[in-house]
Amino acid sequence: ASFGFKTVPEDLKESLVKNVFDSVASKYDLMNDATSLGVHRLWKDEFVSSLRPGRKGAMKCIDVAGGTGDIALRILDYAREKHYDRETTVDVVDINAQMLKEGYKRFKQTMYHNTPQISFTESNAQDLGEQFKDNTYDLYTIAFGIRNCTSIPDVLKEAHRVLKPGGTFACLEFSRVDNPLLSTIYDQYSFSIIPLLGTLLAGDRESYQYLVESIRKFPPQPEFAQMIRDAGFSTAKDVEGGAWVNLWGGIACIHTGVKL
Ligand code: SAM
Repeated sequence: ASFGFKTVPEDLKESLVKNVFDSVASKYDLMNDATSLGVHRLWKDEFVSSLRPGRKGAMKCIDVAGGTGDIALRILDYAREKHYDRETTVDVVDINAQMLKEGYKRFKQTMYHNTPQISFTESNAQDLGEQFKDNTYDLYTIAFGIRNCTSIPDVLKEAHRVLKPGGTFACLEFSRVDNPLLSTIYDQYSFSIIPLLGTLLAGDRESYQYLVESIRKFPPQPEFAQMIRDAGFSTAKDVEGGAWVNLWGGIACIHTGVKL
């Protein structure tokens, strides 16, 4: 169903995504809480704890499409609180300078500010550039970001390039709900309430409509797992609980793969 939204031509997608996040940057954290009723926090906690940063000693991590640093902060907190690890590092990368600026401001309030544990770099997930060298990272994370990218295969190729052999690719993304009842409720919610909240809280209905539309266009779990394998990663068995773990019936989903 199109739900009356204009489909965005692929060549316009990149600049549109940039504008979308420019316009929402300062309200982004508030809007995340409002649109997901705070649930995104639980999903992010589950995502990061499932990756157990710091478990095998200090890890070199890259968080791509890292926005305001939600995942990076969790990775560093988890490593420190669970494993007394203050050596793990996270390089946050995002295409949007405004989002990074919000992230930088936020990290100023933390103990990680001005330490080698955190950095912010503006770059494109599809082409991270020479500053990000091959075989560098133990962990690559991307949360609620890959569906905004024009080419998923290019993102995966870059993830594979910068990870060390044996390194982990981990993606948290909105996905496909398989239960028809839950799916109907979720459709109603996302196509009417989210754009309305976008209007009321951020004064920006279109950006939030775009975000909802992009969720619907993202490949379902088995298809995305195959794309991860095609990029050279090995995944666990291609079933729920193997190659991916559904959160809330598939509203969100964690996919992981290991660089061979
Ligand atoms: N990971 C953060 C989180 O979970 O809170 C931010 C998620 S936000 C929904 C999506 C982010 O993806 C935005 O900050 C946007 O600027 C970024 N983004 C979109 N396209 C990108 C690209 N091609 N390369 C890097 N970042 C991108």
